[in-house]
Amino acid sequence: MRRLCLAWALLTACSDAREVAPPARDVPAALACVARHYGGTPRLVDDRWQLDLAGRRLLFDDGEVKSHEAWLARPDLEDTFRYRYPRGPDLRPADGDFDPGRSRHAGLLAATYGESEDEVRSALVPVDFLGHRIRVHEKVADRFRAVAGRLEPLRDRPDVGPYVRELGGTFHWRTIANTERLSPHAFGIAIDLNPARSAYFEWTPTWSGTYPMEIVEAFEKEGFIWGGRWAHFDTMHFEYRPELLDPSCYEGDRTQLDAGPGDDEGGGPP
Ligand SMILES: [Zn+2]
Repeated sequence: MRRLCLAWALLTACSDAREVAPPARDVPAALACVARHYGGTPRLVDDRWQLDLAGRRLLFDDGEVKSHEAWLARPDLEDTFRYRYPRGPDLRPADGDFDPGRSRHAGLLAATYGESEDEVRSALVPVDFLGHRIRVHEKVADRFRAVAGRLEPLRDRPDVGPYVRELGGTFHWRTIANTERLSPHAFGIAIDLNPARSAYFEWTPTWSGTYPMEIVEAFEKEGFIWGGRWAHFDTMHFEYRPELLDPSCYEGDRTQLDAGPGDDEGGGPP
C-alpha cells in the first residue's frame, strides 16, 4: 500500500499511508456481503480488513488458525463462513464438526441488536406466531411474521402441527449451556419450536433426520438457519442469519468451502 501511496502522491496529496479507502472490488466478498446484510463500512487499516459498525471495529481475519472450540469461542468475521450452510431436502445429520452457523460473531450481533440486556429488551416487539404471542427483536419481526405466514396453512396438518403447538421460547438473556458466550436467543433473533419434538446433541447421541421439511424451508426462505443442519444438532432451533443463506458471501478464494449434506443444492438468498 505504501508503494501505491507514493505513486499516487506524485499526482496528489497522500495524507495517511496507514489507512487507505480502497476500490470496492478489493473488499473480500464475505466482508462485503456482511456489510450488505448488517450495514457498516469495510476498511483496510494496517493491511487488515475490518468492518466499522455502530462504533465497533470488527476484524475480518485475525490470522489465527482455530480449532473447532476456538472457532466456536472467538470467530472473526471470515471464520463464520468456514462451513457452507447447505440447503435442500436431505435432513440427515451432518458428520464431524460440520456446524454451519453455530459459530457467531459476538461483536457483530451486539453492534446490530444491542450491547446489553436493557438495550435488547427495549427493542423487542410482539409478533403473532401460529397461535402464540412471541417477543422478538424489532429488526427481525417482519421475518418472523413472514415465516408464520408461510406455516399458517400447514398448522393443522398432523405431521406439522405438533412441532409448533408448543414453543421452547424466543428472547432469553442467557449464555449457551456450558459456555460464557451469549446465546442468539439473547438478541431476540432465535426461536425454539416444540422441545418435545426435538433432538439436541447433548441429550441424544443420534438423531433420525426426521423433521418437517416445510418448516425448515419456511424459515430458510426468510433468512433463518436451522440447528438440525449441524453435526452438533439442535433441531428445535432457528436463528436469523441471512448472510449464511446468501451464496455471494461464500465467494472468493479466502473462504473455505466445506461440503455437507445437500450442499449440491446451493444456497438461495433469503
Ligand atoms: Zn434455540
